[in-house]
Amino acid sequence: MRDRWLVDGTHVRFGVLANAWKETVRDAMADIATNLASAKVQVRRAVFRRTGDPGERKRMLAALAADRWAGDPFLARQTRKHWKRGRNRTHDQIVVRADQHNTVTDGRGRLWLAVPGLERRQMVRIPLSTTVAPTGTLRLILRGGRVEVHYQIDASQMRSSQRPCGDATVGVDKGYTEALTDSDGVRHGSRLGELLTSESDRLKERNRRRAKLRSIANTAALRGDHAKARRITVNNLGTVKRDRRAARHRARVRTEIFTAADRVADKAATVVAEDLTKSFAGRRTLGRNVDRRLAAWTKGVTAEALTSVSERRGSALVHVNAAYTSQACHRCGRLGRRNGDRLHCTSCGVVWQADVNAAINILQRAGDPDIALHTPHHAVRQILQDRTDRHRTRLPVQDSSPATTERRARHPNRSLMSNSRKQVDR
Ligand SMILES: [Zn+2]
Repeated sequence: MRDRWLVDGTHVRFGVLANAWKETVRDAMADIATNLASAKVQVRRAVFRRTGDPGERKRMLAALAADRWAGDPFLARQTRKHWKRGRNRTHDQIVVRADQHNTVTDGRGRLWLAVPGLERRQMVRIPLSTTVAPTGTLRLILRGGRVEVHYQIDASQMRSSQRPCGDATVGVDKGYTEALTDSDGVRHGSRLGELLTSESDRLKERNRRRAKLRSIANTAALRGDHAKARRITVNNLGTVKRDRRAARHRARVRTEIFTAADRVADKAATVVAEDLTKSFAGRRTLGRNVDRRLAAWTKGVTAEALTSVSERRGSALVHVNAAYTSQACHRCGRLGRRNGDRLHCTSCGVVWQADVNAAINILQRAGDPDIALHTPHHAVRQILQDRTDRHRTRLPVQDSSPATTERRARHPNRSLMSNSRKQVDR
């Protein structure tokens, strides 16, 4: 595409240097490719739903992989359906190659970044709010009247990456009040809840005020007072400050969560966490004012932090099946009664801290001979039930004896089979 535009003269209309627009084209094409790739995931699912014939499936999947989907009516229809209009991120940003920019420190110690402008050999100078010079390829984003300079750094060079990880095996429970609670009962990132609640409260109040202003503007417009409506829209309903503040809040939450993950890595050689690909409805009670979208995003950041910090610090991250880890008593395995942040086990007669109990359960799942990562939710319940039943009737089975573990390893479905027998008996 770049070559064609150079030949037919399209590029003259852009009015920017060749390097700048070429990088933008590369950006846009990468966005389109990402979009198509995610649409293909959906189309693949549709293929599996449409036919059970292995030959037909193979033919369609091969055509999809080789981008020959346009020739097959079903594939073409599905691709059109799922490959919707994508999001183009290039409208407010440019990429500047490493050899195209430089930085200068002025007399007052301020750092200035110089990048090519529209006129040849005329550099545009941007004052930076940092003393660390950006390096490598830069992405300059014009957002809310400011220039953001984005660039990649080598994670191994970060100061926190130089700290070695610990030597323990630690289970962690992800939360909203505290980012992480570990199986030793220590909470990390305990300012998270406060950050989320205060932001939610503030948003609620702000949205209420904005709704009121919007209705005043609408009423004015209906009366024909367009000047007033415009004034309100421009002066009071702008998005620049709002977006800037939202970005700052997100940055603060990320820092809190990443610091928490680093604290866990300080003591852990192996971190055991719940698998995030499945989500169990109603697993966590949120505060009344905690926005659900914000909560989902927070959980994603926690998962990202665990992965990223583990890679940087050299600890291992083990994902386990988290079904019932927040409801079962870690001592006896029976399902307890949840009351707020407490879990009451009527069998042991003990009240646990719910998050600490969950973290211990998650840790124990790492060595569980019966419950694998993808064991279905209902099967986990049966396995837990089965264990406590055995305990109650005093059958001579001990979960921790090596002989049992070996037998289990050879017959992984043993407990499931005994359950189905029981169901038939009933
Ligand atoms: Zn118990």
